[in-house]
Amino acid sequence: MDFTWTPEQQDYRQHLRAFIARALPADWEAKSNYDPGSPYVVDFARDFCPALAAEGLLIPHWPVEHGGGGADPWFHWILGEEMFAVGEPRSYQYMNVNWIGPALLRYGSAAQQALHIPQITGGSVFWCQGFSEPSAGSDLAALKTRAERDGDGYVINGQKIWTSAASFASYCFLLARTGPTKRDISVFLVPMDTPGIEVREVMSLTGRRSLHEVFLTDVRVGEETRLGEENAGWAIVKAVLHNERIGAPRYIMAQRALDAAARVLRQDGRFDVPSIQAGLGKARAAVDACQLLCFRIIDGRMKNVSPGGETNVARYALALADRAVGDFIGEHLHDALLAREEQTILTQFRRAASTGLGAGAAEIQLDIVAQSFLELPRSH
Ligand SMILES: Cc1cc2nc3c(=O)[nH]c(=O)nc-3n(C[C@H](O)[C@H](O)[C@H](O)COP(=O)(O)OP(=O)(O)OC[C@H]3O[C@@H](n4cnc5c(N)ncnc54)[C@H](O)[C@@H]3O)c2cc1C
Repeated sequence: MDFTWTPEQQDYRQHLRAFIARALPADWEAKSNYDPGSPYVVDFARDFCPALAAEGLLIPHWPVEHGGGGADPWFHWILGEEMFAVGEPRSYQYMNVNWIGPALLRYGSAAQQALHIPQITGGSVFWCQGFSEPSAGSDLAALKTRAERDGDGYVINGQKIWTSAASFASYCFLLARTGPTKRDISVFLVPMDTPGIEVREVMSLTGRRSLHEVFLTDVRVGEETRLGEENAGWAIVKAVLHNERIGAPRYIMAQRALDAAARVLRQDGRFDVPSIQAGLGKARAAVDACQLLCFRIIDGRMKNVSPGGETNVARYALALADRAVGDFIGEHLHDALLAREEQTILTQFRRAASTGLGAGAAEIQLDIVAQSFLELPRSH
C-alpha cells in the first residue's frame, strides 16, 4: 500500500476544503453542534448538497454515465473525511452517496433509476434506512415487518426503530418479510408520505434528534417499489451493509477531539503529566490503527478485491477508537465537558456512548470475524 497522496488527490482535498470554508457560516460549530440530524443541519444541507453537486463534488466516485466524476475510491474517501471532520454538513444525504444510490444503480430497474438517481445526484432528497426493529437489530433476519401480496402490489404492516432521518426523509429503504423462511426478505423503496406511515421521534442517549420509530399500518405500495426480485433482499442487504459499515470515516472526529484535548491540556499545564501522555498516546494509537484499517479497505476497493472480514475488523477498530477517545475525555477533561466550550470534545464524548451499536454492534463484528476470518466453530 502506498501512503503518499497523489498531487490530484491533494488538489481535490484542497478544493473541497476551500469549498467548505466558503460554504459554512462562521457560527457553524455552535449552530450545528456537529449533529447531522439537527434541524439546523438538515436545513443547511438542503442548499449545501445541490451546491456541492453543481461544483461536481457530490458524487466524484460515481460512474460518469450516472452524473459522477468516474474518480477512484480514494476520492470518495477523501470526500467523507473532509465532510465528517466538520460534522457532516450533507446531513443524512451522505447515505445516498455511500450506499443507497450505489444499491439503486446495481439492483434498480430502469424506471427506479430514472425516478431516484437524478434526485440523489442533484442533492435534493433525503432517504432513511428501515432495517432495525424492536426485536431485530443484531439478528436482522428476525425482522417481523411483513409485505403481503395484494393485487398488483403489497400491503406492509410492522414497526421499525432507530430509524435515522425518518421525520424528514422522502423515501425509506425498507426491509420486509415476503415469504415463509427466515431469509425471505425483500427491499421496498417506500415514499414516506404513503398513507399508513407514522413517525415518532425517539430521544437519544447522546442528545441527538435523529432517531425515530416508524409504524407501518396497511401501507399499500405498488410492485414497482420493490428493489430486485421478491425474496432476494438478503443479497442486496449484504452488499449494502458492507458499504454502510465502512462508508463514513468517523475516526476523523475522534482525531479532531484528541487535537482539541491536547490543546486544552496544554493550556491547563497538564499536557506533560506522564499518565496523561500515556492516555493520549494510547487513544491516538487506537484512532490511527482504525484509520489504517479503513485505508486497507479502500486499497482493496481500488484493486477490486471482494470485501471480506477486513470490513468487520475495521468497523470493530472504529468502536475501539471511539471508546478510547471517549474514555480519555471522560477521565481527564471533565471541566472542558462541563464548560461546553469545545464542541468537538463534547461531541466525541457523547458519540462514544453509542458507538459500537449503529451499523452493526461491535460484538457482532467480532462474531463475523471469528467465523469468516478465523473459521472458528459456531456455538449453536
Ligand atoms: C446512532 C444510531 C443510529 C442508527 N440508525 C439506524 C437506522 O437509520 N436504521 C436502522 O434500521 N437502524 C439504525 N440503528 C440501529 C442499529 O442498526 C442497531 O442498534 C444495531 O443493529 C444493534 O441492534 P439493537 O439495538 O437491537 O441491539 P441488540 O441486537 O439487542 O444488541 C444489544 C447488545 O447485545 C449484543 N449482542 C446481541 N447479539 C449478540 C450475539 N449474538 N453475540 C454477542 N453479543 C450480542 C450486542 O452486541 C449489543 O451490545 C441505529 C443505531 C444507532 C445507535
